[in-house]
Amino acid sequence: MGKPTGFMEISRRTVPYRAPNVRIMDFDEIYNSPDIVRLQTQGARCMDCGVPFCQSHTGCPIDNLIPEWNDLVYNGRWKDALDRLHKTNNFPEFTGRACPAPCEGACVLGITNPPVTIKNIENAIIDRGWAEGWIVPQIAKHKTGKSVAIVGSGPAGLAAAQQLARAGHRVHVYERADRIGGLLMYGIPNMKLEKDLVQKRIDQMKAEGVRFRTNINVGVDFTIDALRVDHDAVILAIGSTRPRDLPVPGRNLKGVHFAMDFLTANTKSLLDSNLEDGQYINAKDKNVIVIGGGDTGTDCIGTSIRHGCKSVVNFELLDKPPAERADNNPWPEWPRIFRVDYGHAEAEATFGEDPRTYAVLTKEFIGNTKGRITGVKTIEIEWDVPADGSRPTFKEIEGTEKVWEADLVLLSMGFVGPEKTIASQLGLEEDARGNIKAEHGSFKTSLEGVYAAGDCRRGQSLVVWGINEGRGVARAVDLDLMGKTELTAPDSA
Ligand SMILES: Cc1cc2nc3c(=O)[nH]c(=O)nc-3n(C[C@H](O)[C@H](O)[C@H](O)COP(=O)(O)OP(=O)(O)OC[C@H]3O[C@@H](n4cnc5c(N)ncnc54)[C@H](O)[C@@H]3O)c2cc1C
Ligand code: SF4
Repeated sequence: MGKPTGFMEISRRTVPYRAPNVRIMDFDEIYNSPDIVRLQTQGARCMDCGVPFCQSHTGCPIDNLIPEWNDLVYNGRWKDALDRLHKTNNFPEFTGRACPAPCEGACVLGITNPPVTIKNIENAIIDRGWAEGWIVPQIAKHKTGKSVAIVGSGPAGLAAAQQLARAGHRVHVYERADRIGGLLMYGIPNMKLEKDLVQKRIDQMKAEGVRFRTNINVGVDFTIDALRVDHDAVILAIGSTRPRDLPVPGRNLKGVHFAMDFLTANTKSLLDSNLEDGQYINAKDKNVIVIGGGDTGTDCIGTSIRHGCKSVVNFELLDKPPAERADNNPWPEWPRIFRVDYGHAEAEATFGEDPRTYAVLTKEFIGNTKGRITGVKTIEIEWDVPADGSRPTFKEIEGTEKVWEADLVLLSMGFVGPEKTIASQLGLEEDARGNIKAEHGSFKTSLEGVYAAGDCRRGQSLVVWGINEGRGVARAVDLDLMGKTELTAPDSA
């Protein structure tokens, strides 16, 4: 604890993003570089709690050693802070940028004051590490002679691959996309996570011995059984990629797309040709309606604005969250409160208002004679949230129908689980939600030698949980192959 009275003397100051009206002109990252002196001072707000809720309980899912690196940063010991950060997190540059920071929601200081700026500090440590050249390949000294195949290269697959390669195994990662990274590459847009950063980690992992094979759709290009023959263990990290649909009249009209088709094509075209090949769904001069919120909805808003859309509206089925924690949402739970994410701020700067409309249900897509979308019909709804915690229900409010002008509709209502091809080829058991069944800890599926981790096992989640599961499955596989392991993995499940 660098400064015992820091939390009483110093106010929380986050690193501001670039101004909305400036950053919408490009797809560069939204972040500014921090003022280092101010950031170190923020580290002094940490109270080095006896029970650091930030790194456990409902806080950090990978048990980041937060009070330790807060103190090291305050004292200017950046390299030591980086070493402590890497002890629990393979990819702090991803979480430092994209994580919603449950650690800050659980920070003890947050009971009475704004929490410590943990996420800013994490990001500054890792950026400094890259800038100073401190991050180098860690090549295993001894090889085990064992071989592991990993299907899918999102954060779960990548974390597993790095851990297993460092334990001395031969690791092959198979990815059906043309670039490695899963949703880190083709999901989270460039302005939130610059793709050079993903590539730097891939380069590090290649130097550590990981072999990457892109454009291989396992289960289609060859059977998963072929992988089982060639490798001592197979890890499925195939994500939760089946989008939730909205089967209302007019769903097949031209101009209604899943959010991921919009976002993926945009990033691919951006990386391939700086959007010059035209191989993306262009929102320019269109009235855009994004149905569904969350990170995906925000990313659709931010991307549409960068294309130069005419207007953007975002429908949310739920009520507007409260400004402060509700009584049934106490600390250290994740605060379910109203937040303004980067895309919302950009819409406000561009069109003068927040794009979100709450408690609205889509009834129908309306089209013209050419089969193109021209509007969306909605009705307002009223929620009934039972005090006993049972499932909330809603009813439509008569007379509140409305037709919204639309030229492009993006469906962003979450994902319903992993694709079935591999699971059915192997006859794997599913859990009640249609995910691949495997216990957190062992990560074993119903078939010997086949493991599952990440969103395909736990359902749609977060990058940080992908890293949690990637580290966890690597430990489990190493233990099963070698009878012992030195790999560490987080406790949180
Ligand atoms: C648009 C969007 C924005 C998001 N923003 C954030 C954010 O800001 N912060 C955050 O924490 N989380 C965010 N998330 C969630 C986060 O990205 C995911 O939880 C995380 O990436 C899941 O990691 P994963 O490794 O399990 O799977 P994924 O990242 O989904 O990777 C799975 C990979 O498996 C590949 N694959 C699937 N089947 C096969 C096959 N048969 N053969 C070969 N390869 C295959 C896929 O192509 C994909 O590359 C976002 C999600 C989306 C969709
Ligand atoms: S809970 Fe907050 S104040 Fe306490 S150790 Fe963690 S970051 Fe520091």
